[in-house]
Amino acid sequence: MNLTFIGSFRLVILFTILTVTGSKLFAQSPDADQPFGFISRESAARQIELEKRFDSELNRNDMDQWMKRLTAFPIHVGALHNKSNAVFIDSLFKSWGFDSEIKEYYVLFPTPKVRVLDLIAPKKYSAVLGEKIIATDPYTAQTEMQLPPYNAYSPDGDVTGQLIYVNYGLREDYETLKAMGISVKGKIVIARYGKSWRGVKPKLAYEHGAIGCIIYSDPFGDGYYKGGVYPEGPFKNRYAVERGSVLDWPIQTGDPSTPGYASTKKAPRVRLEENANMPKIPVIPISYHDAEPLLKALGGEVAPDSWQGALPIAYRIGSGQATVRLKVQFNWDIVPVYNVIAKLRGKFNPDEWVLRGNHHDAWVNGATDPVSGLVAMMGEAQSIGRLVSQGWTPNRTIVYCIWDGEEPALLGSTEWAEDYATTLEKNAVIYINTDNNTRGLLYAGGSPSLEKFFSQIAFSVKDPDRNISVGKRRSTSGFRLGALGTGSDYTPFYQHLGIATLNMGFRGEGAGGEYHTIYDNYTVFKRFKDPGFKYAKALSQVAGRTVLRMANADFLPFEFTPLYRNISTYSTQLKKLGENFDFQPMDNALQSLKNSVAAYSTFLKKRLPDLSESEISALSSMVFRSERYLTDSAGLPGQEWYKNLLYAPGLYTGYGAKTVPGVRQAIEQQASVSIVNREIKRVSNVIIKYSAFIDELIPGKRGERN
Ligand SMILES: [Zn+2]
Repeated sequence: MNLTFIGSFRLVILFTILTVTGSKLFAQSPDADQPFGFISRESAARQIELEKRFDSELNRNDMDQWMKRLTAFPIHVGALHNKSNAVFIDSLFKSWGFDSEIKEYYVLFPTPKVRVLDLIAPKKYSAVLGEKIIATDPYTAQTEMQLPPYNAYSPDGDVTGQLIYVNYGLREDYETLKAMGISVKGKIVIARYGKSWRGVKPKLAYEHGAIGCIIYSDPFGDGYYKGGVYPEGPFKNRYAVERGSVLDWPIQTGDPSTPGYASTKKAPRVRLEENANMPKIPVIPISYHDAEPLLKALGGEVAPDSWQGALPIAYRIGSGQATVRLKVQFNWDIVPVYNVIAKLRGKFNPDEWVLRGNHHDAWVNGATDPVSGLVAMMGEAQSIGRLVSQGWTPNRTIVYCIWDGEEPALLGSTEWAEDYATTLEKNAVIYINTDNNTRGLLYAGGSPSLEKFFSQIAFSVKDPDRNISVGKRRSTSGFRLGALGTGSDYTPFYQHLGIATLNMGFRGEGAGGEYHTIYDNYTVFKRFKDPGFKYAKALSQVAGRTVLRMANADFLPFEFTPLYRNISTYSTQLKKLGENFDFQPMDNALQSLKNSVAAYSTFLKKRLPDLSESEISALSSMVFRSERYLTDSAGLPGQEWYKNLLYAPGLYTGYGAKTVPGVRQAIEQQASVSIVNREIKRVSNVIIKYSAFIDELIPGKRGERN
């Protein structure tokens, strides 16, 4: 730690700036020259200078060439080019000075063997179940190497039944059907993509008695209703099909045959029926070309206005006249996945790890998902490698994680996190995730304790298309982090292990319908997504600063005011959801948190300067562990693998987060008063523990509670 020359006067100034003027300062001076966590003016100046050199080494042309190479062929789990990419990435990281290795796990990955979808009555129609080659786009012609459209982890099945339209297949849609006196029992449902994790659709269909589930892309969502279709425009043409996993991620991610432990070669495997996250009925995804004859065949009542899609038909629910047969069979193989793990050892705190990850597998060629985020991350790592070759070494250890098997079930990241859980619980300071990146606005979500730190970074990076910072383009008054549900590799770190997390990327412009289709390729990316890799570079700058500041900070930049603010908001929301419950424990816990957070802020401002260098260092080594105290080893009801009691994917939303999920979902599911009160108590205890930990960070307050 470079603390020897610090004067306490400067410390007072720094923490006054950081904790009093906070977001206002960032809005006024986008290039704040005193990054949070850098104590002396000298160390701050050195960091700013380092970041300038870091920026100057970022190379958009390299990112472009890497994307071209990485997406040359399909790169799903088990594909030849997937492994070739892992070897290529590993060799690049080695050439940049990282201690890199390929870490393998052996995971259950089903691939399709038989796919049949037939309309049998009142007319006959056999679904195409395939996408169309575009003459001007050679990537779309790699038919032999592509996985055909399917929903991974659908069980094998051969079912015939009446067809019924269920809109998005959400809970409220089944309530609407119930109110209309319509049951899906023994029937096959057809639901449109959107509004939920796709795995929620077959789950709810099964819970309501359906025997099969078809998911289709309505042109209303990302087809002609939104704009020109491929190849003229970026939206879905009539044959495009979204692939994707239907495993129940909100219950657990990772290999369903090794729940809670690593999928090593000799790991024992459970029977799939024993894992609650496996879908129970056969599922298939289709295009709007294939959906149209099915929907047309439905009789009965016209569906409600909000259920109408953009096909030129009146959408009906189904009177029983349309009958379909759905047959799917899969190869249930155990195959290797290849994570690349590349370390750069820290000089002063080698046992404090800054983790940075993005996945490398895709459903097909994967230019946007995930390679747009991956090349930005590789750009960062290459630049960091050059700083190292110029003589710089980070204070803490930096670990780049290039995950395989994200698409089926966050396989690579979850198995690695489960494998190294003990070490990670001890060493991991932060996990920083990226995935798809296009252009537009910066989005970020994660731990509220990192909000102040991240806001300053967002206000220090210039938007490539506007003459303002990427932070200011979002908001003039400080950057707010969103709540994380699931959908990318942060989940095992954030919600299972309790590691402080940030997930970020640019989006809003460059929309399209290529997601998980053969059209998510280099040609499409260069035409419609982020043609000059300008926002890829901006992402490197934002995520790279996050890595470099965390790795170099004199004092780890955690701050707790936003957590208190958020929990207060959640508490007010929950009280509005139900009045019969006993919120007193939560009120008490919040009061305790309020006191601790205020005392900590005062401590940073007024007393930290008087501490010795070794005391500051010791404090820094404790502060990141705060995040662990948001977890409870018993986990959430029905989601026991999820240990974070403040943030989880909703059981019936998936991507969408539920805040204070134990309490909120119990109320939403109309659980008994005693169950809701029990969950209020549990989360209150966690908040009390968290407050006590903050007090532990303040020397004078230590032991006050004993
Ligand atoms: Zn992805």
